[in-house]
Amino acid sequence: MWSQCLCGATQFVDPHSGMPERHPPRLVVNVWNCQASLAVCDGMNVVSLDVQPPRRMLEKAIRRAGGAINISGYYTATPELERWARSKGLIA
Ligand SMILES: [Zn+2]
Repeated sequence: MWSQCLCGATQFVDPHSGMPERHPPRLVVNVWNCQASLAVCDGMNVVSLDVQPPRRMLEKAIRRAGGAINISGYYTATPELERWARSKGLIA
């Protein structure tokens, strides 16, 4: 069966074990405690990236996803952020 990962991706859940399977790594904006940072989710783990992209890029991604800096959660990264992360060699 299919369900939605906390990052917003669609992922397959094993109907017997109830365990979600991995999905292709996705760049997300992690908002926590009014702080935004970049992370990669693969459905099993969310790994924070130890970098700080330009703040306006993070804010734009949060706004696009209909979120806010004071609403904790994972937001889909914009193509602009993906390009930025790729240029830094953080994602493939
Ligand atoms: Zn995910």
